[in-house]
Amino acid sequence: MGAVAGPEIERLVQLLARLPGLGPRSARRAALHLIKKREALMIPLSSAMQVALDKVQVCKTCGSIDTQNPCTVCIDPKRDPSIIVVVADVADLWALERANATQGRYHVLGATLSPLDGVGPQDLTIEALVARAHDAQVHEVILALNATVDGQTTAHYITDLLQDANVKVTRLAHGVPVGGELDYLDEGTLSAAMRQRTLF
Ligand code: ZN
Repeated sequence: MGAVAGPEIERLVQLLARLPGLGPRSARRAALHLIKKREALMIPLSSAMQVALDKVQVCKTCGSIDTQNPCTVCIDPKRDPSIIVVVADVADLWALERANATQGRYHVLGATLSPLDGVGPQDLTIEALVARAHDAQVHEVILALNATVDGQTTAHYITDLLQDANVKVTRLAHGVPVGGELDYLDEGTLSAAMRQRTLF
């Protein structure tokens, strides 16, 4: 498709198309929507982005992203300081929060170990995690990592490093999703669910 508008609008479309979940067509639709809703949407969005740009920082305790440091979760007194939930990415932290899955605090690794992509332990915040796990008030480290080869490699690596910390290291159960039908599950999920069966 050739240009149907000036370079300024085409640039807006191209930038929007780089957002996750937006392809070229939906980016074009989003750009048009923004332009039509200039007062109600585009101006507030643009200033919200500017404010976020000025204020967003990485939490020096857990590695999450927030406009304050330490972040909102780290300073929340209702959070259980005895539990650290380890996630690869801030998106995973947000997903667990959406699900209201834990009252613990978090630790964001920044990625998972991936030897093929050249991601090693020094690229992750593992050292800081080990230091936090040695805090006397921490009793459990929950590894909430992806059920992928890289996620599980990372989980094993961290578990080894936490051997001499006085904490219980747990990981998420891998199994039949809520509402899931056995017939539709892949073999890996099904065999993991069988291995990790629980008493009824
Ligand atoms: Zn934090």
